[in-house]
Amino acid sequence: MSNPETGERLDDGLVLWFPAPRSATGEDVAEFHVHGSRAVLAAIMEVLRRLGLRLAEPGEFTQRAFLNGKLDLLQAEAIADLAASETEAQRRQALRQLKGELGALYRGWSKRLTRILAHLEAIIDFPDEELPPDIEDRILCETELLTTEIERHLSDGHRGERLRDGIMVAIIGPPNVGKSSLLNRIARRDAVITSPVAGTTRDIVEVAVDLEGYPVVLADTAGLRDSDDVVEQEGLRRALRRAEEAEIRLFVFDARCPDQAQGAAAWPGPDTILVANKIDLVRKAEGSGLRRRDNFPWQVMGAVMPGRDPGIHGAPSGAAPSNAGGGGHSESVVPPKALPISALTGDGVDALLSALGKRVAQIYRIEAPVLTRARHRQALEDATASLQRALAAPLPELRAEDIRLALRSLGRITGTVDVEDLLDVIFRDFCIGK
Ligand code: GDP
Repeated sequence: MSNPETGERLDDGLVLWFPAPRSATGEDVAEFHVHGSRAVLAAIMEVLRRLGLRLAEPGEFTQRAFLNGKLDLLQAEAIADLAASETEAQRRQALRQLKGELGALYRGWSKRLTRILAHLEAIIDFPDEELPPDIEDRILCETELLTTEIERHLSDGHRGERLRDGIMVAIIGPPNVGKSSLLNRIARRDAVITSPVAGTTRDIVEVAVDLEGYPVVLADTAGLRDSDDVVEQEGLRRALRRAEEAEIRLFVFDARCPDQAQGAAAWPGPDTILVANKIDLVRKAEGSGLRRRDNFPWQVMGAVMPGRDPGIHGAPSGAAPSNAGGGGHSESVVPPKALPISALTGDGVDALLSALGKRVAQIYRIEAPVLTRARHRQALEDATASLQRALAAPLPELRAEDIRLALRSLGRITGTVDVEDLLDVIFRDFCIGK
C-alpha cells in the first residue's frame, strides 16, 4: 500500500473487495487488513481522507444494510444487541433475532392482516358481486384468532426484554442480617459498604453478574424494619417496591433468629428463596455447647416458611414442631427451601447461587421467539387495540380502517412503514464501525 500522491510506501496489507450488491451493506465495500499500529492507521486514514472518504457514523454500516434491504429493523436491532451482549443467554437471544425468527413471526401476522384487509375491500368495493356468503364471518373469525395470538405473545412476562436488560433479583430481609455482605460475596468485590450498624443501606445498590449464562442484576436493599428516620423510611419504601418488581427475591434472615423468616410470607411462591445467613455463628455456638443440637433454628424453619404449613405459620419458633424429629444437625434436617449460608466465610454461597441459577434457567429457557424491546411491545399493543376496535366496528369501511392501522403498527416493528423517524432512535445506540 502506498500514498498515491507521493508514492511513499505505507504498509504491506491485504485489501478485500466486495462488489455491490452482494456485500454486507449492499454497496461496494473494500476491507483493508493492515498492521494495526497507531502510526500505520494514522498514515492510511490520512490518505483515505484525502481521497474524500470519512469514518462511518455509529451504526452506519447497519443502517445502510437496512436501507438497501439487506436486513429488517429487527435484525438491525439484533446486531446492536449482539455487539452489546455480555452473557451467553443474551448472545443466543440476539442471534435468534438476527436469524429473523421474530421478523418471520411478525411478517406472518402482517400477511394474514393483509388478506383480511383484501377481503374487506372486496366487500366494500364489490357489494353486488358474488362473494362467498360467509365471508364476513370468516373475516371476524380470523381477526379474533390473530388478536388472541398477538395478545398471547404480549403476555410473556417481559421475558425477552428482561433477558436483554438483566433479570432482577432483590436481596431483602431485616436489617443487619448480612444482605450487603452477601451481595459483596457474590460480586466478589466490595460493591456495598457493610457495617455493624443497622440501617446503613438506605438506597438500592445494584451489581450485574453472569449466572450460568444469564444476565442477573442483584440489588441490595434497605433492611425491612419500622423506623422514624425519614431517609430510612424512604429506603424501606424503595426496598419494598424493588422486592415487588424483582423476578426473584433472596429473603435473608439471621440463622439464629428463625422467626425473621416469617417476613418472607409477603412474597409467597418459588420465586422467593429463603436464605439463613450467619450459619458460622450457629456452628460456633454448637461447637462451644451453648445450644443443644436439637434446638437449631433451621430445624423449625419449615414451620415458619410461607406456604409450607398454614396451620403452624406464625407460631413462635420454640413452639413449632421440629421436622428433624429431634435429630442432629445434618443436611436431611435442613428444610429444602431455607438455604444455610455464611456470607462471612462463603459457606453455602455456591449452593445458593446454583439454586438461584436453576430458578433463572427455569424461567428463562425460552423456546418461542419473544419480544425483546419496549418499542415492539408498544407497536403490538397498538395493533391489538386497533384489532379490538375492528372487531367491534359496525361497518366494513370502519373495520377496514382499523385493520389498516393494525397493519401499520406491525409494519413499524420490522420497518416496512413509517420508519424515518424511528431510524435515529434505533441506530443511535450502535457503536462506531458496526
Ligand atoms: P445488612 O444490613 O443486612 O446489609 O447486613 P450487613 O451485610 O451490613 O452485615 C451486618 C453485620 O453482620 C456486619 O457486621 C457483617 O460483618 C456481619 N455479617 C454478615 N454476614 C455474616 C455471616 O455470615 N457471619 C457473621 N459472623 N457475620 C456476618
